Amino acid sequence: MSSKRYEIAVVGGGFAGAAAAITAARQGKNVLLIEKYNCLGGAAAYDLVNPFMGNWTRDPANSKVIIELSRGLFTEIVERLQAMGGAEYFAGITFNEEMLKYVLNKMALESGVKLLYQTYVTGVRMEGERVVSLDISNVSGAGVIEADCFIDATGDANLINMAGLPYRVGREWDGLCQPMTLCFRLGNVKVTRKSDFKTRINKLYKEFQAAGKIQNPRENILVFHTLCDSILHFNTTRVVKLNPTNAEEVTRAEIIAREQVFELYNFLRENFEEFKESVLLSTGMQIGARESRMIDGEYVLSQEDLLAFRKFEDSIAVCNYDIDIHSPDGSGTSHYYFPDGEYYGIPYRCLIPKGAENLLVAGRCISTTHEAQASVRIMPTCCNLGEAAGIAVSLAAENGAKMRDVDVKRLRAILAENGARVD
Ligand SMILES: Cc1cc2nc3c(=O)[nH]c(=O)nc-3n(C[C@H](O)[C@H](O)[C@H](O)COP(=O)(O)OP(=O)(O)OC[C@H]3O[C@@H](n4cnc5c(N)ncnc54)[C@H](O)[C@@H]3O)c2cc1C
Repeated sequence: MSSKRYEIAVVGGGFAGAAAAITAARQGKNVLLIEKYNCLGGAAAYDLVNPFMGNWTRDPANSKVIIELSRGLFTEIVERLQAMGGAEYFAGITFNEEMLKYVLNKMALESGVKLLYQTYVTGVRMEGERVVSLDISNVSGAGVIEADCFIDATGDANLINMAGLPYRVGREWDGLCQPMTLCFRLGNVKVTRKSDFKTRINKLYKEFQAAGKIQNPRENILVFHTLCDSILHFNTTRVVKLNPTNAEEVTRAEIIAREQVFELYNFLRENFEEFKESVLLSTGMQIGARESRMIDGEYVLSQEDLLAFRKFEDSIAVCNYDIDIHSPDGSGTSHYYFPDGEYYGIPYRCLIPKGAENLLVAGRCISTTHEAQASVRIMPTCCNLGEAAGIAVSLAAENGAKMRDVDVKRLRAILAENGARVD
């Protein structure tokens, strides 16, 4: 069994993990990024999630002035995509995921990140409160990765689970998570970005649902234009009351969602001229989990913090994406939109898991309640969290590898120097 050692090992190549690894490598660290698929981008790449939802606010003094809250590395990614024609500002930031994978590969390699694709982390070895090594499995066989510091950017807090550290799942009162969704794309649809077809298809969808001819419990069809006129992106299947941290329930969810894809595809091509010759181009490589494990960290960010627009001395990112809760048990989606100029801070403590001293968590599984996670979870914010984690582990690697001892003032100062927003 092979064994290799790095200063920092990041697991998961979604927005959080990619940002963490790139940022830590830019700090001069020897960084390994382990990803089970063949690319970076995470949910954007394999769940087909699109667009980047907006994390910005209007200046209350002049509503024409937009204040971007996700900056730093996220802005760099967007600018590199734009330079290739791979991103445009509409409905958030709509992007081409193949270009995203390419851009992230380039950024990781230019920064000196060592990439290990098609590799699954299968175990976490601890000695007391220290993570000592990770067990991996890939085409070479079984292996071991040692490092001074580790980042769990697996979305599902898989390292935390494997290490036996505490976490929560779903709503406080019944443990239900936001629905899982298998995204899909239809091509050869006779529409342009200006076409007004959504009202018509939704009217009939609701009639079909009321008549029992549509089983999908979602209240409407959630569809987005893409960078290509004739291709539409659907984020509209909805599987409720199944646990995204239980493999058998996830399998059931995949099967139900695929039924829903065909239910909707057939509904559209049988009833609307624009869709008559449409083609089902692709479905996500796996069903998307909006929410699953949330670690039990040094601080639990709550809805009360969000509604108070709370800022913290150890804020390492800011956010004001709405509290966007797709009903965990049926139809409906609830929203709380922040007023102009208001946003909240995310404390560094939310990234520090209880019970481990050299492990950080970044991305949608940081320490929050169900309600706060519904706002934090978007890709721009996950990128900001990853960037902060990358700097924090770099500082820790220089100083005993204890995440709780990181000089937070320095962490915030470096983030600000890099163009990220911390307040
Ligand atoms: C259906 C759906 C719609 C959404 N819509 C939007 C939207 O429109 N806009 C928006 O901004 N956000 C949206 N989101 C939220 C957003 O996509 C995610 O919250 C965000 O991408 C999570 O990023 P992450 O880096 O934390 O995790 P992920 O992107 O999930 O990345 C985790 C990575 O870890 C890897 N991994 C996991 N376990 C292991 C292991 N054991 N070994 C090796 N690798 C491992 C995975 O392969 C993956 O690449 C949506 C989410 C879903 C599911």
